[in-house]
Amino acid sequence: WIARDNAAVWHPFTQHATWIGDDPTVVERAEGPWLIDTDGRRHLDGVSSLWTTTLGHCHPDINAAIAAQLETLDHSTFLGTTHIPGIELSEALIALAPKGTGPDLTKVFYAGDGSSAVEAALKIAYQYSSQTGRARPTFVRLEHAYHGDTLGAVAVGGHDLFHATYRPLLLQTVGVPSPGDRSLGPDRLRIAIDALEATMREHGDQTCAIIVEPMMQGAAGMFDYDAEYLRAARRLADKYGALLIFDEVATGFGRTGKMWAAEHAGVVPDLLTCGKGITGGYLPLSAVLAAEHVYEAFLARPGDSGPRTFFHGHTYTANPLCCAAALANLRVMGEQDVIGQARRLGERLAKLLEPVGAMPGVTEIRRLGTMIGVEVAPSRDRTGFAVCQAARERGVWLRPLGDTVILMPPLTLAEPETDLLVNALAEAVAEVCE
Ligand code: PMP
Repeated sequence: WIARDNAAVWHPFTQHATWIGDDPTVVERAEGPWLIDTDGRRHLDGVSSLWTTTLGHCHPDINAAIAAQLETLDHSTFLGTTHIPGIELSEALIALAPKGTGPDLTKVFYAGDGSSAVEAALKIAYQYSSQTGRARPTFVRLEHAYHGDTLGAVAVGGHDLFHATYRPLLLQTVGVPSPGDRSLGPDRLRIAIDALEATMREHGDQTCAIIVEPMMQGAAGMFDYDAEYLRAARRLADKYGALLIFDEVATGFGRTGKMWAAEHAGVVPDLLTCGKGITGGYLPLSAVLAAEHVYEAFLARPGDSGPRTFFHGHTYTANPLCCAAALANLRVMGEQDVIGQARRLGERLAKLLEPVGAMPGVTEIRRLGTMIGVEVAPSRDRTGFAVCQAARERGVWLRPLGDTVILMPPLTLAEPETDLLVNALAEAVAEVCE
């Protein structure tokens, strides 16, 4: 299989060696938190297959919901037609949407994955702003942000690795310091808020949106920050008439110990993007939750000169199988108090990780719920990668982001597997860093 893969397949983030190993593991089956390869070896999926499988793999209720949906409606375009799972899921998402300072989120626009939800949100914000009088709207983005790989999403990211090649193609943005950036020192929250204020004073009249990953910058290496920043961002967006976008693709659906990271701050954005855990990690689906005032700006009115329609939508938008999986996921989350489980798992992980934090070579452990980054001192070439390799030899899959090792297990991980996860990490750190 590996020879055939090498001959025919172009994987994301080629080559494998950059963060996995020389050859890909051939995964044949999965159950709960386990991935099982073609040699029958079991690997604990410590990062929920890129932060998605919140209930573990092959959950019987989600499997059954997809199978049942297959019997009735496989696919139908969402352009000019609708279907029951798409309507029911929109209602469920609106009912679950965060509440607090900011508008109610009352409309759901579907997309296919995290990047395309961000892309849709950016285009909505841009069109909204140009329709409300901003000549050349710009986006305010955070340094170290990650919002996806499509061109709009790359433009509002804060990672040169993703920018450098494509810079001439990217949207107009202004970068501001991140409140999670440790290199700014203990005053980082104040520095970041002051910088955002100064940026909005200068560019506010042409800012269409401020976009952030709320409470925790994920793919940059897990940089948590204070809820106060989100309250400041809401206040400044309102003051200057810009929209506020929360990208909850990574943080949504219980990952941080609440349904949405926004709930930690009691702040509601104008647009909220979500994906990953929405289907329990089964099928590609994402969504933009939008405030009514944003939606209304796209309704045609008598005397309009330009188009108000949002000319955007994809072939598989709101695919019924994806919506059915998402509805089953939300049902299980409610019935089994998965958010409570996630909170307890996060607390248990924090306790188990305390001795790891004290190990030589570990610089900092950053955590919000079950979103965890263990930063190791760069003692050799690609130390974080070496730690993940050593954990892999112990049957546990983790993922390095630079020298930060990511743990993002299923929210329902049982105690023995939680112990295995942390023990493998501790042994790997001891092997590599001491
Ligand atoms: N936004 C955030 C905050 C993410 O963490 C990610 C993926 N890591 C994305 C967007 C992009 O999602 P996808 O990979 O599904 O396109």
